[in-house]
Amino acid sequence: MEKTELKNIVILATGGTIAGKASSGTQMTGYTAGAYSVADLLAGVPELGELAHISGEQLCNIDSSSLTDALLLRLAQRCNELLAQEDVDGVVITHGTDTMEETAFFLNLTVKSAKPVVLVGAMRPATAVSADGPLNIINAVKVAVDAASAGQGVLVMMNDEIYSGRDVTKTNTANVATFKALNGGPLGFIVGGEVHYRSMRPHTLQSEFDVTGVTALPRVDIIYTHIGEDRVFVDAALAAGARGLIYAGSGMGSIHEAVEAALAEAVSRGVVVVRSSRTGSGIVAAGLERWQEQGFLYADNLNPQKARLLLQLALLR
Ligand code: ASP
Repeated sequence: MEKTELKNIVILATGGTIAGKASSGTQMTGYTAGAYSVADLLAGVPELGELAHISGEQLCNIDSSSLTDALLLRLAQRCNELLAQEDVDGVVITHGTDTMEETAFFLNLTVKSAKPVVLVGAMRPATAVSADGPLNIINAVKVAVDAASAGQGVLVMMNDEIYSGRDVTKTNTANVATFKALNGGPLGFIVGGEVHYRSMRPHTLQSEFDVTGVTALPRVDIIYTHIGEDRVFVDAALAAGARGLIYAGSGMGSIHEAVEAALAEAVSRGVVVVRSSRTGSGIVAAGLERWQEQGFLYADNLNPQKARLLLQLALLR
């Protein structure tokens, strides 16, 4: 993206573990939260400059377990001031995780703007080996600049998941996957570096498919990967006349190398190959460039059995 097209995002820093300092890379408890300034945080993630025009502001630098009503009010008021400015497109608030859900909920009720407001924190201090803060900040800015975030209310971005401030709660004392929305789940995810909201997909009246007069659906087979897989089932499916193959890959739709050539051959014979996943949750994204070059499609958040039905309908057209 051209630098001139980048949005203006303010990082409003309040402290927390994301700005926390421990005495060693392996110290994960008993560190000082709110030890690093917003300038320090930003210096640690130069990649932000490619995503937005970033400016930093320090509202306070505290452990969020000691947040006060006065600070909460100041934060809400400062958000409203910033969001009212034409040259501000969104606000990312760095915050301790202990009371993040309270702040997010309060702001959700008091921010008067449709521009994105995203709270972000970390479960491991900035000094930790595998600190989660830097990537969380990058992801929070990605959420803040995403057009689909506007009007969604105040959001929390933690551990690749996007939550509503209305729903989110901290559920574990230490795990990086501590934030959950126990009554509904996340609003979206970051997968493959991209923001994905759980959106309502076209259905019924908007669906492009029409089965009027259709008497049979095209054959689409599911190939379920496993250790030691070979191409036998792909060959069998092709011999049976499959017009599509759903590959229930491992992880994010990974393909066993012993089967890849067979799948590529299938594509060259006009058979549609779609990568899905056997893991049971998550999104399958584009993956390796090689897979894209070979013409393999990917199933997004559809499990293999649903990807199969969608492909059967698509093949009718
Ligand atoms: N005690 C820290 C805080 O809430 C915990 C954290 O940020 O993860 O500021």
